[in-house]
Amino acid sequence: MKASIGGYARARSIEHALSLFAEADGAGRYLAGGQSLVAALNLGASAGDMLVDISGIEALRGVRIEGDRLVIGALTRHSEIERNDLVARHVPLLAKAAPLIAHDAIRNRGTIGGSLSHADPAAEYPACAVALDAIFNLEGPNGRRDVAASEFFKGLFETDRAEDEILTAVSVPVAQAGERHAILELTRRSGDYALAGLAIVVRGDRHRIGAFGLGDRPLLCEGAMAALDRGDVDAAATAIADDVDPMSDIQASADYRRHLAGVVLRRLAAELGVAR
Ligand SMILES: Cc1cc2nc3c(=O)[nH]c(=O)nc-3n(C[C@H](O)[C@H](O)[C@H](O)COP(=O)(O)OP(=O)(O)OC[C@H]3O[C@@H](n4cnc5c(N)ncnc54)[C@H](O)[C@@H]3O)c2cc1C
Repeated sequence: MKASIGGYARARSIEHALSLFAEADGAGRYLAGGQSLVAALNLGASAGDMLVDISGIEALRGVRIEGDRLVIGALTRHSEIERNDLVARHVPLLAKAAPLIAHDAIRNRGTIGGSLSHADPAAEYPACAVALDAIFNLEGPNGRRDVAASEFFKGLFETDRAEDEILTAVSVPVAQAGERHAILELTRRSGDYALAGLAIVVRGDRHRIGAFGLGDRPLLCEGAMAALDRGDVDAAATAIADDVDPMSDIQASADYRRHLAGVVLRRLAAELGVAR
């Protein structure tokens, strides 16, 4: 099926994109890497959209250190996250997550801003952002604002971002000395979306766990986190069944996904050397 769109315009700057979006009179849709949006348009999931192409906006590019945070421009592609030295040194979780996303062709075009805005509950970056306590920078007609990752994801493909707002960057605390990051997912085939996955950040003796494929949005697994803080892996594996809220679908039942959450948690705990 061919996509049915209402028009296309390439934005030169953030201001230009916002004005093109306003002119579209409710039909505007930002286009970044197109790896989710174009697929949806081709499936007929939406029609008549006025595509505002933000992929040429220089201000949305680049990875830089700002104080004790790493700021990643929204247009940073998955393949760049995979290879960027600053990401590898300061936020290794994202460098480990990127290769788990789909395949090279998709990673070469798909962007971190697109993935976070799309908010697929089975996607890797949203759960990483929650585990990392990231902050999202947004810019819209009423100015700029910041939203914590834990407040950004509202439901299935739903976020706190207003339709006309652009996610400009994601800001992540740089890893402290001794901080450890790990991510693991279970998929039917390499490159598939996860049936169940967890991203873990260990800062000192505190653990933060973001779950993906295990609810209608990325979830912070507070029960399992508290148990891992005590070094009790058995209690964490039990607690995570209550932390997550998976859905049944053609790939797997909710019960099976809940079981997988415990399996993934135990494997990650072993990788990270959590006490027992
Ligand atoms: C076969 C296949 C397999 C995939 N497997 C995985 C996987 O395993 N894991 C995974 O995480 N992803 C997967 N993806 C999705 C991929 O990661 C996409 O690249 C990503 O979800 C969207 O990024 P994009 O830049 O292509 O965004 P687009 O497709 O251009 O846009 C996606 C949505 O976000 C909005 N948007 C994009 N950028 C911004 C912005 N800066 N500000 C505001 N709104 C914005 C768009 O309006 C649109 O609604 C897969 C895709 C395909 C086609």
